[in-house]
Amino acid sequence: MQNSRLLSSGCPVTTDWLKRTAAGIAELHPYIPGKPIIELERELGLVDTIKLASNENPLGPSPLAWAAIQKVAGEVHLYPDDSGHSLRNKLAERCAVAPGAITLGAGSSDVIDMVARVFLEPGVNAVYSEHSFAMYQIYTQACGAAAKVAPPLPVDHPHMPYGHDLDAMAALIDNDTRVVFIANPNNPTGTWLSKSEVAAFLQSVPSDVVVVLDEAYTEYVTEEEFPNGIDWLADYPNLIVTRTFSKMYGLAGLRIGYGISSPELASVIQRVRHPFNANLVALAAAEAVLDDDAYVTQGREVNQQGMAQLMTAFDAMGLVYMPSVANFLTVDLKREAAPVNDGLLSQGIITRPIANYNLHNHLRISIGTELQNSRFITALEQELSS
Ligand SMILES: *Cc1c(COP(=O)(O)O)cnc(C)c1O
Repeated sequence: MQNSRLLSSGCPVTTDWLKRTAAGIAELHPYIPGKPIIELERELGLVDTIKLASNENPLGPSPLAWAAIQKVAGEVHLYPDDSGHSLRNKLAERCAVAPGAITLGAGSSDVIDMVARVFLEPGVNAVYSEHSFAMYQIYTQACGAAAKVAPPLPVDHPHMPYGHDLDAMAALIDNDTRVVFIANPNNPTGTWLSKSEVAAFLQSVPSDVVVVLDEAYTEYVTEEEFPNGIDWLADYPNLIVTRTFSKMYGLAGLRIGYGISSPELASVIQRVRHPFNANLVALAAAEAVLDDDAYVTQGREVNQQGMAQLMTAFDAMGLVYMPSVANFLTVDLKREAAPVNDGLLSQGIITRPIANYNLHNHLRISIGTELQNSRFITALEQELSS
């Protein structure tokens, strides 16, 4: 049977390509990104729309990154430094690891994809939690590997509803497990794991199973018991911590992130790294923004204030949300979220329905500026009362 979903160009299909694809590809559901502002404005003829859908930094780029980008703009006819020497050295110094411990990626998703392609194949499996970052499933399946998905902590859990249940995850690890994915804090729930919880888990994982500790939102977290995955690298050569410049550092459009692991694991992972995967502009901007402490401090403050603003509004509306330490809040609308989302879109506001995470009544809202948040709150009140 032909797959008409794929015929967006209207081309007649003469070959059933999906019968010829590698293991896992035919059943793969591609990632659904947040709707771009420009697309919404084009579709609905709106102006001045706002996007609170992809956990981007609402402050715009750091001035230091901006200046660095302008400085290298005249060099983009050249390939970048494939080793990313300068950025890797700076990251290595900040993380107190050897430069060989750093794996650069076109976003941290690229690093996670490299781990998957190196270790996963048909016949083996990866372990992760339900309601965790969508790319774990996609990369696992793209490699033809099996997914063992742990149920999350129960909805009525006193501290961490929907959080990772590390005991349940550990119980799923078997002889065929090659990789475990953990997001801390987790997306789309915003829940987090403490130092002692992660420490106990790492101890229980066989030393030849790779643990990916995805810390995409670590810069937002102020909780005292929140761990820094780098602290465990010396004891766990099977651990890779991933970080990104897409969220707090405000460079999502440039695609730059990194992994930190034992140099040995890093060199194995980099066997499948695409040449020049960290581009010239991204390398320069990332290096510059690492020096912008004021930008990060402001980002954290705006996030904390915006988080309080949204929580107060949801409380007033009688809506329950998941406890989040990241830069987004996931709220239970107590009704199907898709039509509410359509209403918000028609008011020029893009948020994220997360039915693809099997949460049909929830909406994930990235924390914006005060003005963006209030526009969203007013629009949501209107949608829920209509
Ligand atoms: C956003 C995000 C990432 C990183 O995305 P990149 O832009 O590819 O760096 C990784 N993990 C989680 C959980 C995320 O939410």
